[in-house]
Amino acid sequence: MSNNQLQELRSQIDVINLQILELLNKRATIASEIGKVQQAMGTSFYDPQRESQMLTALEQNNKGPFSNETIKALFKEVFRASMALEEKEAKAKILVQRKTADERTVITLPDGVTKIGDGNFTIISGPCAVESYEQMDTTAAALAERGVKILRGMVFKPRTSPYDYQGMGEPGLKIARQVANKYGMFITSEIMDASQISMMSDYVDIFWVGARNMQNSFLLKAMGQVRQPVILKRGLSATLEEFLYAAEYIVSSGNPNVILIERGIRTFEKATRNTLDIGGVAVLKLDSHLPIIVDISHSAGRRDIAIPLARVAKASGADGLMVEVHPNPPVAMSDAKQQLYIHQFHSLMEAIDRVHIDEPVPAK
Ligand code: PEP
Ligand code: MN
Repeated sequence: MSNNQLQELRSQIDVINLQILELLNKRATIASEIGKVQQAMGTSFYDPQRESQMLTALEQNNKGPFSNETIKALFKEVFRASMALEEKEAKAKILVQRKTADERTVITLPDGVTKIGDGNFTIISGPCAVESYEQMDTTAAALAERGVKILRGMVFKPRTSPYDYQGMGEPGLKIARQVANKYGMFITSEIMDASQISMMSDYVDIFWVGARNMQNSFLLKAMGQVRQPVILKRGLSATLEEFLYAAEYIVSSGNPNVILIERGIRTFEKATRNTLDIGGVAVLKLDSHLPIIVDISHSAGRRDIAIPLARVAKASGADGLMVEVHPNPPVAMSDAKQQLYIHQFHSLMEAIDRVHIDEPVPAK
């Protein structure tokens, strides 16, 4: 075969490649249009019956030299690419997805000065649960000394056993509010049910939806209607995608001020209560414009590793951390093993002061 012949055959291939390229993109555009029609009709984009009909028609018309198996494998790849394109378009439309590199939700608290997500490292702290005025007052005094502005005022506790401490209810909120006012702090408190919104609104500055309620879509929609910002914790076994869709419920129902909390996920590991998904924090920072806080207490279930986790949290590019602090942890009514002693909280604040925060940059 001469060199000329080879060149000639290669240029034929080049032309065919371009034709296939044009046809593939034309096919993708039409498939997208089908997706839009199906969305309007309320039907799903993926139709296995239609896919199987197309493959049969291709087999019947296949004159070779490719075998039917090869043709089917190639076309299945084309179908998969169209599906992926649809999914990407659907995701890009969700409100909590970051659209541009500098898109950030910054949440301003009622004093008009305290912000979450503005580049500062926010500390949310306080005991696991409100137990008494003295307990809240002693804790808040220590937190205020370190400039903490957001106080946990938890009065409804989602305990595993119904025989464990369930929280003080409204009297606990009165205590939390009084103490927060004394130290110029804001209260965040976990809500269990939409029926509590009106009562809790008299006391709380930030609503809090716990891990167990992350997929309670009715509560999430109700949180879309409140004027306060909402902290949303990742579910015990929720994927990041499920977590973001939960946040989407709140935002799409009218409340853009959502703060995400990574609190560890269930894995086979038993040395820690949960496994802190720090990789997930980095992914959320890239994928969403919402602020993200790392809960170093429930993810660990133990206080002895609080400082390294706090340092990792800050270095990860998160917008802050959440840590439980109690004046006398061994006698705490809940989470006694993980709450920090006050002196440990002070050491933690000093340790994170030495960590420098950098905006995470995706690898090129
Ligand atoms: C909490 O932070 O108060 C709590 C109950 O944690 P989680 O919902 O993550 O279990
Ligand atoms: Mn707790």
